Amino acid sequence: MKLTLKIKLLPTDEQANLLLEMMKEANTVCNAISDVAWQEKIFNNFKLHHRTYHAYKATFKLSSQILVRCIAKVADAYKLDKKTKREFRALGSIGYDSRIMTYKPNDIVSLWAIGGRIKIPFVCHNRNYLPYIKGEADLVYKKGKFYLFQTVDVPEEDIDDVEEFIGVDMGLIEIAALSNGKSFNSKKLNDYREKRQKVRSSLQRKGTKNTKKVLKRLSGKERTTSTIINHTISKQIVQLAKAENKGIAIEDLKGIRFSANKKGKKFRARVGKWNFNQLRSFLTYKCLLNGVKLVDVPPAYTSKTCHNCLHIGNRQGKKFTCNNCNSVFDADENAAKNIALLGTNYVNSPEKPSMLYCQVHSFLGLKPIPSLFSVGG
Ligand SMILES: [Zn+2]
Repeated sequence: MKLTLKIKLLPTDEQANLLLEMMKEANTVCNAISDVAWQEKIFNNFKLHHRTYHAYKATFKLSSQILVRCIAKVADAYKLDKKTKREFRALGSIGYDSRIMTYKPNDIVSLWAIGGRIKIPFVCHNRNYLPYIKGEADLVYKKGKFYLFQTVDVPEEDIDDVEEFIGVDMGLIEIAALSNGKSFNSKKLNDYREKRQKVRSSLQRKGTKNTKKVLKRLSGKERTTSTIINHTISKQIVQLAKAENKGIAIEDLKGIRFSANKKGKKFRARVGKWNFNQLRSFLTYKCLLNGVKLVDVPPAYTSKTCHNCLHIGNRQGKKFTCNNCNSVFDADENAAKNIALLGTNYVNSPEKPSMLYCQVHSFLGLKPIPSLFSVGG
């Protein structure tokens, strides 16, 4: 499976200047190539190479390989549409491949820059992936720091056969509630967000030139925090499933429902902002890396059904009550248990309609749904 590894470079001031100089030169040449492409309507990589390579090799201080990558970058940009002229930021990212970049022992990477190669130390938080570095990287300059976004090709583990599933209910009050009762609360994050929202509103009222910068920085910080939270949650769920030899069942994304209660609007604002797509994609790749089975189950009735007797009950906020078997459950945990049941049902009879739905549907006097499942990831 291909992933992108974020590697932070630790250049000396001198090396940093060399990298900046190189990025500026490369983006200048990109803009020059884009001029040609636009004026002469040459958008094909091969033709653009033929038209520009020799002239620009002589006039710019770039290595052949960097120039080749710049031509490809321009051709790529025009692939999206040919109706607007492409322009490149002075410090936009630059592509590197093994001809101009080599990883050395002791966390050193050798990169081509104007005037020759430079050896730069780096740090990386996901060291396990370093042996799987393969192919290209983008050199990115962001907020005064340099990063390599490096492609890695990590082997997938064989998916273990499982009989039981951990159900994950996403949304509402908890970011994720599990069928074993464990839950991941979003309160801390929401408090943090609300505090920032206040700062933001007061800044927006002031509306000076500097506030724009501050606002941009704030949104960046928030994104980082929620990404870390999604990483943590998905990692813990996958580790738990692996340890208990279970699969993971999640709802289709459409499954995030918004109850029309008084708090509905506030919920929507909160839940709508949470990046469940990201949590889902983190779960998917971590499952693949760890050989954990992941299935998508249809969300219908998972929050309305009593997991104990499979009758329709009442959900009110955090509480779920069933008048049929006189049970009271935590609403999110009940939903997660139904999702787990659907996962188990999938393994036992993937072609047949779910037993849960058969019962719920006959209870409601509806016809069974013929095709209910799709395999996740
Ligand atoms: Zn019940």
